Amino acid sequence: MRTYPHLTICEYCDRVYSRRILKSGEIARCYVCDAVLYRSERLDLMQWLALVIATLFVFLMANFFPVIRISFQGLQNEITLWQSVAVFMRTDVALIAVPILLVVIVIPAIQISLLLWLLAFSVLNRQAPFWRMLIKLLIALKPWSMIDVCMLGILVAVVKLSGYLDVAAGMGLWATAVLTWMMTLITNKSFEPIWLLQQRLYQKTSEL
Ligand SMILES: [Zn+2]
Repeated sequence: MRTYPHLTICEYCDRVYSRRILKSGEIARCYVCDAVLYRSERLDLMQWLALVIATLFVFLMANFFPVIRISFQGLQNEITLWQSVAVFMRTDVALIAVPILLVVIVIPAIQISLLLWLLAFSVLNRQAPFWRMLIKLLIALKPWSMIDVCMLGILVAVVKLSGYLDVAAGMGLWATAVLTWMMTLITNKSFEPIWLLQQRLYQKTSEL
């Protein structure tokens, strides 16, 4: 099937337009029915990649630095995200550990790796192997970005524990807070620019 990535169609009145590059903040609208055709992206691919690399560092910090520090009668203990999942695994509510593991560790790790792969190839103007499948997977994972819900859970636990013990937020907790914000920033964008670029590269190679 031949596709035409330089063309776009109005969803409401089916009028066909050729795409143009928009300035930052600009919106392309249909002349006939005024519907939004597409918007300019605030970040280009290179800036998006830089942000994903920064998110990877914050993700590693959130995983390996202690989330909370507990002091009780002179004894001190620190716990990381991994350790808290391991603690849950040993209790009778072990099933709770599965969603925590998925939402805070596994899904963000997959999203960050997929974006790194796709953006690195796109920035180099090269075709990313499996791009079609990976972009679809990223779109399917979007509703699973629930790290903010988990962050809220950790905060509630810290506040509740502080009634009984001396609890302090560790570096990992601050990193998780920053990670929550950064994950939304990198995964809530439209994947269309990557798709269009990869599609163009794919057509170029298939025409050779
Ligand atoms: Zn229209």
